Amino acid sequence: MLLPRARHEHDAAMSKTCPRVLSIAGSDSGGGAGIQADIRTISNLGGHAMTAITGITVQNSVGVTAAELMTPELVLAQVKAVVDDFGVDAIKIGMLGSPEIALAVAGFLKSLRDVPVIFDPVMVATSGAALADERTVAAFQGLIPLSSLVTPNLDEMERLGGESVIADYSVPFLVKGGHGDDGQSASVIDRLVDMHGEQERWEGSRIVTRHSHGTGCTLSAAIATYLGHGESLSDAIGKAREYVRASLKAAPGYGAGHGPMGVPRL
Ligand code: PLP
Repeated sequence: MLLPRARHEHDAAMSKTCPRVLSIAGSDSGGGAGIQADIRTISNLGGHAMTAITGITVQNSVGVTAAELMTPELVLAQVKAVVDDFGVDAIKIGMLGSPEIALAVAGFLKSLRDVPVIFDPVMVATSGAALADERTVAAFQGLIPLSSLVTPNLDEMERLGGESVIADYSVPFLVKGGHGDDGQSASVIDRLVDMHGEQERWEGSRIVTRHSHGTGCTLSAAIATYLGHGESLSDAIGKAREYVRASLKAAPGYGAGHGPMGVPRL
């Protein structure tokens, strides 16, 4: 058994090779998005995946037929149980589901120091089902200032009030262009706007597939894991984009609707 000091040194050394990444998100029974996509991504990229499940969605490639949320207390208890014991090198936040859960998570983030937090403001499932109501979206305002990076797609950006409103938080945000031209544009441009308004962009040809379920979840979990490995924000985003592209190309083609992506060999 390791003594407390030795254990601390052991944890610090291991975190460089196997970063501890916590996903606070919802379960997708179809395994395409949510917690399932996050665990797959973090593990495949060499991290240790820990989870705080906010809710359960009954879901496949065609739609969401039911959903039930955890209590805010149960979400926080999961977070504290793992962070207090294992420590944490990066956090990814996905579906929160209610303003109460968003508020509880914000309260926890206020107590954190020097841990990158990637906030994917999930609002709608790939099939079109709502995963956040207006009150929950309003509660996101309390989470944005506590994040290291916010990753809205174009529709989420609109509902958060538009780019000028997000820019006022002085928090870096990545505008994901995958939904541009209703998902029809020939190329996909993602744009990072840093806290000073400086921009960096990535452009790639669109990978045409209906199996794109979980792209946002996979991207944000990959960014968190690369940051946990010690990459810069710009490199973490660039590598995470490549990882999502490889996942899209590896999609097994399951389901009648928007099926899951695949697990790329690295
Ligand atoms: N979280 C959950 C639980 C979901 O079911 C979904 C989509 O269905 C998402 C997040 C967001 O998915 P995507 O990564 O496709 O934006």
